Order: sequence, then structure tokens, then C-alpha cells
Amino acid sequence: SWNWTHRDPDYLPPEIDTTKPSIARVYDAFLGGKDNFAVDRAVAMEGMRHFPDRGEGARNNRAMLFRGVKYMAEQGIDQFLDIGSGLPTMDNTHSVAQRINPAAKVVYVDNDPIVLAHARAILQTDERTRVITADMREPGVILNHPEVEGFLDFSRPVGLLLVAVVHHLADAEDPNGLVDTYKTRLAPGSYMQLTHFCSCAPEMRELEAVLLQMLGTGRARDMPEIVRFFDGLDLVEPGVVHVPEWRPEEPVRYPLDLGGVCVAGGIGRKP
Ligand code: SAM
Repeated sequence: SWNWTHRDPDYLPPEIDTTKPSIARVYDAFLGGKDNFAVDRAVAMEGMRHFPDRGEGARNNRAMLFRGVKYMAEQGIDQFLDIGSGLPTMDNTHSVAQRINPAAKVVYVDNDPIVLAHARAILQTDERTRVITADMREPGVILNHPEVEGFLDFSRPVGLLLVAVVHHLADAEDPNGLVDTYKTRLAPGSYMQLTHFCSCAPEMRELEAVLLQMLGTGRARDMPEIVRFFDGLDLVEPGVVHVPEWRPEEPVRYPLDLGGVCVAGGIGRKP
């Protein structure tokens, strides 16, 4: 368990293994963050050697995450469950949501303990934001977690975020079944935002190979497979698209480059 009294910012809890790359830290390296180690940067560099997007794909994904949260908050969503939330960076789900609605509540869920370690410093003072370490593959644990139950009210609409996390599930782990389990728990009027590695660009298969080999996960799926995750929901315009095309705030530059096509997603509303 955590040493909650530790004040040294460089202190690393023993759960954090710096000899093996972690998804959260590799993503941070792609984003140009500083919460990563040499093993993580090695994966990001090898990925970019095969898929030279200069980290644009990660930044486009993160930008769409925030446009989506803003959209949902503007529709009146005031509670968010952000699964596979990643390391806190420059901006985060709770700050975007709370800019629209200061009362908005957010629970961050990630299975990498480094997320809790870093989030702790940022979120300590905010009683509307919680962080738990749990695995998306255990929906029962997340949905019935003592930090979630009684904090989020599942009888009212929730904004469920599954942003750039489902591609870390193998086919054998039944990603569709898992996503369906979460959707079933949502009240009518809830939203789900989901983004996913897209196999549209042939180069994506090379990035996938690097990630699978060095990180163990990172599956690209095609558009119909990504659309399938939204079954039972009404897709919000413009539907499932490459992330730069989802309600852009600036004109989209065509043709989309590698960083533009590598992630696709959208938002669906539960009728
Ligand atoms: N959602 C953030 C975003 O889009 O900016 C972060 C995405 S990052 C690519 C994926 C995150 O999902 C990582 O922080 C990783 O630790 C987490 N993750 C991967 N598999 C997970 C699982 N089975 N359960 C919970 N979190 C998971």
C-alpha cells in the first residue's frame, strides 16, 4: 500500500517497476510528457521509427477527449467515469468538465499504480475528483468500488470515458462484452466516449507490431469493429470518425496525415 506521508516528489513506490515499460508512461512519452523512464521512451522511439507521426496521434486523441468532455458537460452531464484515464498532464477530464460545471464529479480509473501516485499530488484538494487503481477487465470491481458507489449516482446520466484504452484489450479478453457490461449499467441519457487505434493506415500494422512486441498490448481495429462498440447507443454527430474530425474547433487539414488517421472514435448517447 502507499506511503501516504511521503513528501519526496522523486519517491517511487515499490509497485512502480522502472525496468518494464508501462502503457501509461509510454503514452506520456508520446505526448512529450516527463513522467516516463528510459524503458518507456525506448518503446515510443521505436514506435515513431515505424510510425513517424511525431506524437501527433496521441495529441489528437487527447484533444478529442477534451472536446468530448466539454460536449458532454454542455449537455448537462455532471458525473464522469474515466476508465484508462492515464497520467494527469497539462489538462485533465475534471478540469475541462469543471470549467463548464464546477460541481461536476469525476472518478479516474487506471490499472497502472503510477497514475494514482501522480494524481494524488494534483487532486488532493478537490473533493469532487477521485482516483482508483482498478482494471477495466473487472467491471464489477469498478462499478461496485467503495470510492465509486455513493459518489457517482448510476440512476442518473453518467459520462463514461473509454478513451484509448479498449485497444489495450486482446480479442480473447472480449472487449465487446466488457464495453456492453458498462453500457448496460448506464442510465438513459448517459453518454459513452470511446476512441481506439484504427487500422486505416497500412503503417498502423507496424506500430501495432512494435507495441505488441515491446509492451504486450496495442491492437488496431478497423472502422466497423470500432463502430460496433457503440451498439445500442445513438451516435452523436458526426458519428465514428478519425479523431481530428470529431467536432473540430479549427478547420481540419486534408488529407489527414498518420497522426490524423491512427485513432478513431466518437460519442454515443444511451436512449
Ligand atoms: N484516456 C487517456 C487519454 O486518452 O488521453 C489515456 C490513454 S492511455 C493510451 C491508456 C491508459 O489505459 C493507460 O494509462 C493504461 O495504464 C490504461 N489501461 C490499459 N489497460 C487498462 C485496463 N485493463 N484497465 C484500466 N486501465 C488500463
